[in-house]
Amino acid sequence: MSAPVVGRFAPSPTGPLHFGSLIAAVGSYCLARKHKGLWLLRMEDLDTPRVVPGAADDILRTLDAFGLHWDGEIVWQSQRIDAYQSALEKLQEGGRLFACGCSRKEVIASAPHPGEEGPVYAGTCRRGLRPGRKPRSLRLHVPEERICFTDGVYGAVQQVLSRSVGDFVLRRADGLFAYQLAVVVDDSASGVTQVVRGADLLSSTPRQIYLHACLGTASPTYYHLPLAVDSQGEKISKRHGPISVGHESLDCGLLQEVLRFLGQSVPKELALAPAREVLRWAECCFDQQRIPANLDGLYVKVEKFV
Ligand code: GLU
Repeated sequence: MSAPVVGRFAPSPTGPLHFGSLIAAVGSYCLARKHKGLWLLRMEDLDTPRVVPGAADDILRTLDAFGLHWDGEIVWQSQRIDAYQSALEKLQEGGRLFACGCSRKEVIASAPHPGEEGPVYAGTCRRGLRPGRKPRSLRLHVPEERICFTDGVYGAVQQVLSRSVGDFVLRRADGLFAYQLAVVVDDSASGVTQVVRGADLLSSTPRQIYLHACLGTASPTYYHLPLAVDSQGEKISKRHGPISVGHESLDCGLLQEVLRFLGQSVPKELALAPAREVLRWAECCFDQQRIPANLDGLYVKVEKFV
């Protein structure tokens, strides 16, 4: 018997849900429930300067109103600092980290070429800080090797970390733990086996797979959902605006639109059905093969095997 699926949704409470985050919520929910798996919820409230008061509650109420009910306790990243610290220490003991004294400006100026999400780190402090420089961030050494994985939607994907991002930051200059570290530590601690999220994170995945390997934890499987952009490249979320309880957008039509966006054909008989009924249909009938891999809407580039 194969291991039970453990999926999750991990919103950042920087505002209410929007069409894009609802896609990730519905997609991750359906792909977990379809396999009779668990669906966990994690509030990514680690980047405190970006957290908006009240946004987490708003997101929880909205998920509940759609019938997107999660299993177990909510994990709050702001309460997991010790876990991130001990992962960092483990990496440090393994000689995988180094202190970097470069400012953002210096990283940009010294980048050998533009990367996928900003400048590629040139390796300036890899062999020690230059005289008179203070440590600012902690970075992870990355190897020359190619990281390959098979995405459930986009297929075979590969990235050479040293060429695409360079040694990346795990503890930021402002003292906060980086998203890349937190997500890997948390997914592993919660026993997550299946990550379903927006394709804007496709290019973060090789970093996360590499971090799992460094920490000796198992990587989950990945499904990256197409981004909600129209043919002009404009974010569809802008059309809908924020999605909250009490807002007129919270209706079954919206859920159907999300499911259609994910390539699903909701039966006509459910056209006027309440959201929960539509969701019940999706829990058993959601078909992952139908999710379109919309590479045009993908503004981050990873190489696909040909
Ligand atoms: N918190 C991230 C976001 O809201 C998602 C992280 C993830 O799913 O790994 O975009």
